[in-house]
Amino acid sequence: MLACLRLVYFTRQDTRDAGFIETDHYGARFNDSGSHFGLLGLSQRWLRDLVWDYFDARLRNQPPRSQGPLKLARRSCVELSAYLEAQAPGGGHDPRALTEEHMTAFVADQRHRALHGLPALGHDPDVGMSGGRLQAMTLSLLEGWHPRMTEIVSRQDPASIFPVAVRTSVPVAAWETDAVTLLGDAVHVMSPAIGVGANTALRDARVLASRLVEAADGRPLTAALRAYEDEMRGYGFDAVRESAEHSATKLPS
Ligand SMILES: Cc1cc2nc3c(=O)[nH]c(=O)nc-3n(C[C@H](O)[C@H](O)[C@H](O)COP(=O)(O)OP(=O)(O)OC[C@H]3O[C@@H](n4cnc5c(N)ncnc54)[C@H](O)[C@@H]3O)c2cc1C
Repeated sequence: MLACLRLVYFTRQDTRDAGFIETDHYGARFNDSGSHFGLLGLSQRWLRDLVWDYFDARLRNQPPRSQGPLKLARRSCVELSAYLEAQAPGGGHDPRALTEEHMTAFVADQRHRALHGLPALGHDPDVGMSGGRLQAMTLSLLEGWHPRMTEIVSRQDPASIFPVAVRTSVPVAAWETDAVTLLGDAVHVMSPAIGVGANTALRDARVLASRLVEAADGRPLTAALRAYEDEMRGYGFDAVRESAEHSATKLPS
């Protein structure tokens, strides 16, 4: 359902801003997977845009027969992104600050990792990461931070570390109001990038409670619920959009 809605609510150009590709937008369907192809594992906006442009051109002009070539390209760039985030000035977010040496050092680091069987730096969405690998990745990203900070992470039990899939809803139009309504993540789940999901759910509860008090005072229940839903869809999906925007620009993955 979400996959179908994404196709309707996001144009090709919107998907560039939101950090993903829908292969259905190009009439390309692969047997081995669905249409959605996430690029948020690339934290530098310039790199993500370059990869999006490459995929866009490839899907328009020479669509591959499976998602394999696209996944391989993404995986390499996720590694580069994680490397730049940890090692380059300013996390590699300004490409003008990068030099040939950064790329040479990246290749040397990849060789070293392959040679010694070290974990990958980046989190490729197709590759499940164990708690130990997630811990190693976090520590590498914290290199140069205060030792107390890295100690907190290194003392964690790897068995207690797990990845969390971040999902976002898409705005929905008003539906026919009846005695059942929605609030919180059930209607406007959002990325935790700006930490307002629970806050928005609490706001729903407050607004809904006020409308129910009005219903108790004689306002027709359906009208009261409709007023709540109209208000909630406004600020709720504003928060969804703002969170998605910040996910795309601020979060490393
Ligand atoms: C990593 C992360 C960080 C976050 N950080 C922040 C933050 O800093 N600030 C902030 O405001 N928000 C934050 N959020 C978002 C916040 O957690 C959610 O928006 C909020 O919990 C939503 O509340 P809810 O009551 O709508 O849903 P939930 O908290 O998901 O509650 C739904 C409950 O229903 C239960 N349930 C599900 N199905 C059934 C069923 N069939 N029968 C009975 N029970 C069922 C579930 O077990 C759950 O307890 C974060 C989210 C994540 C993932």
